[in-house]
Amino acid sequence: MSEGALGRGELRDQFPILTAHPELAYLDSAATAQKPRAVLDAVQTYLTTTNANAGRGTYPWANRTTELVEAVRQRVREFLHDPEPARSTVHFTGGTTEGLRAVARDWLVPLLRDGDEILVPFTDHRANLDPWQEAQRLLAERGTSVRVRALPYQPSSGDYDHRALGDVIGPRTRFVAATHVHHVYGGDMNVHRIRAAVGPDVPICLDAAQSVGHQPVRLDDPDLDVDFVVFSGHKAMALPGTGAVWARNARGPAFEPTGWQGTPNTVGIVSLGAALDWLDAVGPDRIARWTTALTTRLTDRLRHLAPYEILGCPTSLAADAPLPPAQRRHGIVTFRHREIPSDDLGFILYSHGFMVRADSLCQAGADERDGSVRVSLHVYNTVEEIDRLSAVLTSLV
Ligand code: PMP
Repeated sequence: MSEGALGRGELRDQFPILTAHPELAYLDSAATAQKPRAVLDAVQTYLTTTNANAGRGTYPWANRTTELVEAVRQRVREFLHDPEPARSTVHFTGGTTEGLRAVARDWLVPLLRDGDEILVPFTDHRANLDPWQEAQRLLAERGTSVRVRALPYQPSSGDYDHRALGDVIGPRTRFVAATHVHHVYGGDMNVHRIRAAVGPDVPICLDAAQSVGHQPVRLDDPDLDVDFVVFSGHKAMALPGTGAVWARNARGPAFEPTGWQGTPNTVGIVSLGAALDWLDAVGPDRIARWTTALTTRLTDRLRHLAPYEILGCPTSLAADAPLPPAQRRHGIVTFRHREIPSDDLGFILYSHGFMVRADSLCQAGADERDGSVRVSLHVYNTVEEIDRLSAVLTSLV
């Protein structure tokens, strides 16, 4: 499964925090990704040559900062293969949570009328449920009653229940919020089936926190006919406190965040531009192939170890599964040990140098009893790390 430079660990060598700690394995990239030297250098260069506020001031540093911010806005469109860049808008945020809330508050609330319905996920990340429920409360305070319906979910596949979609879609369905890749199960949520079910006119907002930077996210693909793409820059190798909302502006009013926007996170935005350059140079396709291969290597071991229960779609696990499987896993494997509590398992794994996530993973509807261990991978992870992890997990059988 050597993918050239990836197999030889050459890309890993570009991550100073990882090369400084060869004894540790970072397996928590779904929470945040490590930063390549190119991103750190871009940050250093900006802060030591150009740092000023954007959109204000008339001197060269301020003008250059304004240009950089606008260039990254364009870069986001390019990275997402925006088919109509003259029409879309890109709004910078602190991350996916803030982005989804901006769509809910500034775009959806003014659009909805008494009796309208929206369809949102109740089993995905809380960041993709709370804003829609807040919008409902805000409207209720103004005397507008809106129904929030759950996107039907199928535990056996870890995907939305696309067959049941027809039961919850009606003439008053005005909006759908969905997730691109599930942050617990790692499966692609097949948003094209949602588009097919709701028809051509209903806007769809996509939480792309776990897909941007991990796999191709191409808006010129007819299967990705969505109206908003919301993502976190920090999960795509940019600095913490970065993210963006891309809005197609084709169904309903244009997306215009309300109120005074204040000083943007200029250095974060610069880091996002550098991160997108780095990711494009490596190739999102190649990143996805690598993390999928590592995921399969791990699940192929884990599924034969009786004490472990892997959460999500069982048919996506096997390397020899019939193609195409119902669900494809993208770099995320979440599991439980039937006897060892998940937080203990997290500590045990750290004692062997593995940094994993071990809690309820911010999943809507989950509580502390739903703890699990999540291993999430990126392009800097190696076969050797997966084999070492498998050996430790096997020793705990
Ligand atoms: N949605 C999904 C699917 C996520 O995985 C996350 C982060 N774990 C978020 C939203 C929230 O992202 P952020 O913390 O960057 O706002």
